[in-house]
Amino acid sequence: MRLVMKFGGTSLGDGGRIKNAAKLVKEYLENNEVIVVCSAMAGVTDTLFALIDKASRGRVRDVEITLSNLSDKHYRAVDDALNDELIKNDVKSIVKELIEDLRRAVLSILYLREATPRSRDYVVSFGERLSTRIMWGALTELGTTCKYLDGGDAGIITDSNFGEASPLMEISKLEVKRRVGSLLDRGITPIITGYIAVNEEGVITTLGRGGSDYTATILGYCLDADEVWLWSDVDGLMTADPRIVKDAKVLSTVSFNEAIEMAIFGAKGLHPRALEPAMKSNMKVRIRNTFNPSHQGTLISLKPEKSDMIVKAVLLVKDAAMISVRGASMVGRPGTVAKILETLARENINVMMISQSVSESSVSIVIKRDVLTKALNKLETALLGTGLVEDIESEDDVNVIAVVGEGMKGTPGVASRVFGAVAKKGINIRMIAQGSSELNISFVVREEDGYEAVRAIHEEYKL
Ligand code: ADP
Ligand code: ASP
Ligand code: MG
Repeated sequence: MRLVMKFGGTSLGDGGRIKNAAKLVKEYLENNEVIVVCSAMAGVTDTLFALIDKASRGRVRDVEITLSNLSDKHYRAVDDALNDELIKNDVKSIVKELIEDLRRAVLSILYLREATPRSRDYVVSFGERLSTRIMWGALTELGTTCKYLDGGDAGIITDSNFGEASPLMEISKLEVKRRVGSLLDRGITPIITGYIAVNEEGVITTLGRGGSDYTATILGYCLDADEVWLWSDVDGLMTADPRIVKDAKVLSTVSFNEAIEMAIFGAKGLHPRALEPAMKSNMKVRIRNTFNPSHQGTLISLKPEKSDMIVKAVLLVKDAAMISVRGASMVGRPGTVAKILETLARENINVMMISQSVSESSVSIVIKRDVLTKALNKLETALLGTGLVEDIESEDDVNVIAVVGEGMKGTPGVASRVFGAVAKKGINIRMIAQGSSELNISFVVREEDGYEAVRAIHEEYKL
């Protein structure tokens, strides 16, 4: 088989784990072709974002400390992952060069006190660039002929929407086939940075948080892979976040539609668009656990085996905020919703949920909490003063709960059972939305009730 194997941050959390991941690859290389995709080591992308923040506020000392910690972390990983002195020295000098480049970029932000979306992508790209080089050392040490490539060198080309770039699939396919395909033809195992790519001018872009999953499926699509395996730190997609529900279970199979819905609502930090390329080419995706590789994991496919589960999973989005737009004059006057969505879309703000009361006198939307201030500013400018809208209110302490399952389609009474279970715990529901696909029901509760609502539904459906 031709397999794309992506290793998440925790699977590459330290030198020992990188070595372990390399061994897994080596094992599968006996009977398969493998394309390796690496995330940054656990926590590194967050640290790089924090570094940008510190630099743009002029915190010189904080910047120095963070850079030095990052550098230590990677040198330590090299020491722990590798034994062969020659390879170790090679990788260390590559790491040194990368850290110096990173330092230069951060210093320029420090001087300017400003980070553009483009420079942010450049800085955060170092996480994946560092981890792939260490993985290259570990695989080389195991006797594998391999080569490391940055996303752009592998041929992944995106638009210039820095921070959340979209791949240009058809030219990427041509380029990836040419660059990575030729390595595979020569028996060389490619090790490719997840998350990062380039735009048409060759400037580094990123695919959005969790984007290494997306890199893996883009590569799978471009190279006609048989399967994409996302190695993580859980046995698979679960009926709920195991940190919230202790006895959450692993789902052995889910459909693409269910998995996409789960991803949108944050399951496994799976990139919400990662399954698009796989679905388009009907390529199977598996989620597996590097810490428990004998477990079969979750298989995501077009037509999974029939299941009698009505609800498959209950998800929680913590960092949400709700905005309500009210106005008696909105009644019977088309266009307010369009205006709201248009205003937010122009700012690249994604709307997670929307619902309108039957009277049309109020519209509620849910967005990510970190863009609330920006959204409010823009909506106030666009809507207040038009005479349509009287007031715009917001709440920043809400959670979204999503109940997902293809079995809900056409099954009567799901909503009453879900809301009944939540009501029994005395939890107040602030807003409700159901997509017409009937694949999910989502609703909003106060932040303090989030976990309990998830547990109540998990219990109700005996998941
Ligand atoms: P990776 O670094 O491998 O990409 P992520 O951190 O992105 O891994 O995602 C894995 C984490 O997602 C798990 O450790 C788990 O705590 C969390 N998670 C949340 N919801 C779910 C779910 N429904 N099923 C599985 N994992 C979940
Ligand atoms: N390292 C990136 C992130 O933390 C991409 C990924 O891990 O998938 O978002
Ligand atoms: Mg992830």
